Formats: sequence, C-alpha cells, structure tokens
Amino acid sequence: MDELVGGIRRVTMPLPTRPGHVHAYLLPGEDGWTLVDTGIGLPDAKETWAAELEQLEGRVVTVFITHFHPDHIGAAADLHELTGAPVVQGALDYAQCELVWGNPLWSERLVEWFRQQGAPDDVTAELVGQSSVYRPFIRYQRDPILVEAGEHVDGWELVAAPGHADGQLCLIRDGVLIAADHLLGRITPTVGLWPASRPDPLGDYLGALDRTIELDPEIALPGHGDPIADPAGRARELKEHHRVRLEETVEALTGEPETGYVLSFALFGADLPPAGRRFAVAETLSHLERLVREDAARHHEADGVVTYTAA
Ligand SMILES: [Zn+2]
Repeated sequence: MDELVGGIRRVTMPLPTRPGHVHAYLLPGEDGWTLVDTGIGLPDAKETWAAELEQLEGRVVTVFITHFHPDHIGAAADLHELTGAPVVQGALDYAQCELVWGNPLWSERLVEWFRQQGAPDDVTAELVGQSSVYRPFIRYQRDPILVEAGEHVDGWELVAAPGHADGQLCLIRDGVLIAADHLLGRITPTVGLWPASRPDPLGDYLGALDRTIELDPEIALPGHGDPIADPAGRARELKEHHRVRLEETVEALTGEPETGYVLSFALFGADLPPAGRRFAVAETLSHLERLVREDAARHHEADGVVTYTAA
C-alpha cells in the first residue's frame, strides 16, 4: 500500500493479462475510507484484500466502482462482504454490467455482432472465446446504490467520463482526479464500439477529454500506471492521438464497401492475437462511426453486414 497526495492510499493488485496490474485507491473521509475499484476477482482476492485492509486505520465506509470492466469490478462482492460497506456504482454502468456479466446469452450476442462487422466464423469464435476468459473472475455486487455524474460521494464530485466505458465515472476533489481508465499515462485507453454501447463512443470520449481540460486538475490518479502530473496536457495528447487515427481511418476508406473487421487490418496491422483483434475491430468501428457523424464516411447495412465507404 502506497501513500499519495492528500493521504490517499493506493493498492496495486495483480492482473493475469496486460498491463499486469490495476490500482485501487482509498480516499480518506471523516467517517472512514472510500475504496475506489477492487481489482479482478482472482480466487484469492478476498484474502489479499483482507491483508491490505489490516494495514489501514479506520474502516471502509463506501466501495465505489468507476466502471464494470473485470479489472475494476471483479472483487466488488468480496469487498462488500469483507467491509460491510455499501457498493456505489453509476446507474448506466450498472445497467451495462448486468447486460454483459449478468446475462448468459451475452456471448451469443457478441458472436452475432462480430459477424455483422465482417469477422469470419472461425475468427469470431476465437474472438468471443477470449472474452469469456474473465467471466469466472467477476463477482460484482447486485443492487448497488446507483449514482449519476454531478452527485457527491463522501465529499468527492462524480464526473462523467464516457468513452472507454459509456457509464464510467471519475471522482474529483481539491484538484485531485481519480481517473479510472479515462486518462492513462503511457497507454492509450481503448475506446471501442460494442453491441449495446452508445452509438458514438469516440465522440463521447473527445467531449470528456475537453471536460478534463476545462476542469484542469492538478494531478490524476489512473487505474493503471503512474500518477499523471499534467492531466490537461495528457488529455490534449490523447485528443491528438485520435485526430491522427481518424485521418488514417479516412485514408483507409474507398468507394468500395468494407467491413470494420477488414478495415481493422489496415489500421492495426495483421499480426494480432484474438484479444488484440477484438479491441482493434471495436476501435476501428468507434472511429468509423465518428467519421460518419462528421460526414467523412458512410455507413451501410445489407444482408446483416455493416460496411463503410468514403463520403
Ligand atoms: Zn482498467
């Protein structure tokens, strides 16, 4: 456990896949600690957390979930059992959490969706198989306390940070932004289009980056990697990254209809493992849908397959 600015504590939990770790933060409050995110629900997560919490003076009064991805929500139910504290989660994020992790038919829906985006059947099976790897390690808390951006949790204001996940919420107080996966230092957060996600996640993300620049926090504490000393500067870099990627996407388009799957090879290369391809397709689609809204690309649907052409 590390001590950071303002008495905030950071607990780093292992991840079996890249980037190999995820951070949870403990925010000091008058009545006790607010724990932000839980790590993935590895079989020994509860024991690991019990040992960590023993080092803490005072009790955890709130478990806050920034977004429903496995590395952030996986041990939520364990922490609720350990601490007795209520779990607090964004309303939209919890709805998507139920849709994905509470729904045994989700994998079929994902298969169908990748097919629509042009992935061949054998590849689709591999892509979706990869996504179920995490399922056994997700113990989210049912019926959490639902909150919205603009509300406060233990003195911290909740800020909407859509893009990486539609319903992701960050927390801000006294110039400190608990950034989840909205801003990361060295990694570019993935911003993908997924079934049942909002229609223009990249547009949402670019708007959320503008909001970060406006808020201009002094420091951001991300879900992965080191604290970010210039959050507004990092937000500008990420905007620039997507501006370039949008240009590359325009260049990849022609008058011939192409699927998001095929276009992902032009943008992300041919050598990707299935998990990498899954994100590459979702990222390619989020850029294509942004371009459609900028009148720089056209979206077509025929015979259950979605394709794109140059505008
Ligand atoms: Zn994460």
